Parts: sequence; C-alpha cells; structure tokens
Amino acid sequence: MSDVIVVGGGVIGLSAAWELASHGATVKIIDQRMIGQEASWAGAGMLPPGNLAGETSGEGRLRALSCELWAEWTQSLREATGIDNGYQNCGAIEVSFDRGLLDEANTWKASGNRVELLSDDRRRHFETAISSSIKDAYRLDEFCQVRNPRHLKALAAACAEVGVEFLEGAAACGWRVSGNRVTHIRTAGADYAAGQFVICSGAWSRQLTQEAGVELNVEPMRGQIVLLRCSPLPFRHVIQDGARYLVPRTDGRILIGSTEERVGFIKQNTVDGVQSLLKFAVSVVPALASAEIERCWSGLRPFSGREEPFITRLPAQNNLFVATGHFRSGLQMSPGTAVLVRQMLLGQESSIPMSPYGLVGSALASKDASIEELVATQSQQQ
Ligand SMILES: Cc1cc2nc3c(=O)[nH]c(=O)nc-3n(C[C@H](O)[C@H](O)[C@H](O)COP(=O)(O)OP(=O)(O)OC[C@H]3O[C@@H](n4cnc5c(N)ncnc54)[C@H](O)[C@@H]3O)c2cc1C
Repeated sequence: MSDVIVVGGGVIGLSAAWELASHGATVKIIDQRMIGQEASWAGAGMLPPGNLAGETSGEGRLRALSCELWAEWTQSLREATGIDNGYQNCGAIEVSFDRGLLDEANTWKASGNRVELLSDDRRRHFETAISSSIKDAYRLDEFCQVRNPRHLKALAAACAEVGVEFLEGAAACGWRVSGNRVTHIRTAGADYAAGQFVICSGAWSRQLTQEAGVELNVEPMRGQIVLLRCSPLPFRHVIQDGARYLVPRTDGRILIGSTEERVGFIKQNTVDGVQSLLKFAVSVVPALASAEIERCWSGLRPFSGREEPFITRLPAQNNLFVATGHFRSGLQMSPGTAVLVRQMLLGQESSIPMSPYGLVGSALASKDASIEELVATQSQQQ
C-alpha cells in the first residue's frame, strides 16, 4: 500500500509526487491517460515574477513562493535526470493599444517586483519589432519561461528516480470510505489503497470531489495556441497584451496564445480561435506576417472563478486532499503548490498562510459538510 495516491499526472500531480517522494513518502500516480498530456503540456510556460516580502494576496504569495523555487527545481531536476527543462529569464513586455498601463505597472511595483514603464525609445531599445501603433508598454525584467513539455519529462523521470509508481490509463471514478477516512480509490480495473489521497485532476477534478460529497467549483476553460516558426527570432521578450501573448523559444519557434472559451471538455482548434490569434500576433509584431505556421493545439485549464487554486483537505474525510483550479497559472505555481501539498500531508508548518486556498466561498454546497465544518477545516490548516 502507498503512503499517498496522487490522482492526475499533470504538472501539479507530478510536482507534488516528486516533492512527497523526495521527503520519504511512497507515492503512486494514477492517470486516466498518459501522464503530462493535458493542460500542463498545452500551456505556454510563462512564469511571471513574484516577491514574497511584498505580495499580500493568496495568489501573489503562491506565485512568489513558486518564483523562488523555479531555479532550484530546474537545477535539481537536471542533476537527477540530465534533462534541461529550458527554464530561462527572458523578461516580458506588456503592451497596450488602447489603455494606459501606469496603474498596472504600479501594482507590480507596490508588491516589490522590478518594473519599468517604457518610453517609445526604451521600448525600441529592447525590441524593435513591436508595432509603433501601441499606446503604452512596461517591462518586467524578472519574467521567466520554461519549456513545459520538457519540464514534464524531467518531473516524470525524477519521480521514477525516487520510486514513484505510475498507473496510466486508469480513470479514477470514486472512493471506498470507512468512517471518516478514504481507504481506496476506485478505478474500472481495481481499487487501490493508500494512507492519503490527493486529487490533482485539473479540469476534471469536480467529478472526483463530487464522489466525496463536495461540489468543487472547477470547470474546463479551453485555451488555443498557434505555433509559428520564424528564424531569426524578431524579439526575445515574452510580449503580452492582457490575456494574449507571444512567447519566443530559443529554437526559432513562437507560441501565440491564447483564447478563453467555456466549451466544456471539447479540445479542438477553431477557425475563429486561430484567426483571432494570428490577427493579434501580426498587430503586435507586423514582421510575423511572413512566419511559417507549424501547428496549433488547445488545452483545458482548470478554472475556478477565483484567483487562488484549491489546496486543502476536503471536509468529510481526514485523508482526502485537493490541489487544483490553477487556471492560467498552474505551471508557474506548481513548485509552490507541491511544497504546500507536502507540508499539508506530512503535518509540517506551511511556508505561507493556507486560508486563501481553502474551500470557503468558492466550493459549492457540500452535501456532507456544513459551512462551519469547512471553516474548521481551513483554520486547522493555518
Ligand atoms: C493554452 C494554455 C496556455 C497556458 N499557459 C500557461 C502559462 O504560460 N503559464 C502557466 O503557469 N500556466 C499556463 N496554463 C495553465 C496551466 O497549463 C494549468 O493551470 C496547469 O497545467 C494545470 O495543471 P494540472 O496538473 O492541474 O492539470 P492537467 O495538466 O490537465 O493534468 C490533470 C491530469 O489529471 C488526469 N485526470 C483527470 N481526471 C482523472 C481521473 N478521473 N482519473 C485519473 N486521472 C485523471 C488527466 O488525464 C491529466 O493528466 C496554460 C494553459 C493552457 C490550456
């Protein structure tokens, strides 16, 4: 029997499994498909900065905690597996065609992050390819990126190295419960016992929490990406305009992202989606009009309608936890989430206050637990 079963082998499940197994736990990951093929593979790998001393929100603290861990995790993964995940500090330039960005830049500054509002000259100094029609721009020089498919490969190899077991092609469908403890996770093929269970099933998490009596407010939000090939690269920074962005890779590829679509579990690219991304890309960097289109894909982000993910114990059982709902930031927040999961499961003090990641106000009504029980669960975790 494993100490811990992690349900879902995306970046959150793999990171949590690696962190737990590196601290002595025996861990099994169960995935309904192959590990690392869903949102975590589809993402763009942007890693915005954060400053733990200055961030005051739950989102900001988890972003900052993760930010502190990325370089260290990259090095440990390389040492353990020989795989380079492509983590690098590329910087980002936020641009706007129609709104001033002073307030946004000031928000970054107030939380202790390095930000520079860019005059036209300074913008051209950093990137000549950006359209001269833009109205405003600022630069975050600590912004990083990772090649997420490579990072997932590294995590899977590192997990195997510390003894994590993988069970792929096994869809979890429910729980066997005795009193206030889950004893087994049920799959079509067999039931598996463990001391503790963590649901890291991304956009699919709700069905499993429902089986445990909690209507977790997590649903899929599709994001489409178009991949261009363009050599030499016309720019080095990530360039963003709100939810749209261009991410240059060192091998001459550029990701254009992304849409936000509530279409259930339908993963496909659409004419509308691809067309709008291409139009956006050329409006920001006109030289991309002659770039080659290599391919496109889409993924399902776990959307929870709030800034923070859920990282908490479910109220009705003592040994059933959830780490999901990271929406657009699951790659960035994965190392911090893994550390919090490890601290929560091993009964260790948390690096940051846990109350923002609880269920209150965000999970829909639970049939087995009153709101008082939900509050009690969260205060125990602080
Ligand atoms: C287009 C796009 C761009 C993005 N860009 C970024 C970015 O630049 N930076 C960033 O930080 N984040 C980004 N994200 C968000 C990020 O990818 C997600 O927040 C993150 O991948 C969520 O990770 P996860 O492990 O929770 O989910 P997933 O990667 O979806 O993994 C969930 C896993 O659970 C498994 N599973 C589900 N149900 C079951 C079940 N019943 N039984 C067994 N297994 C199950 C699935 O097969 C899957 O492997 C982006 C996402 C998309 C789609």
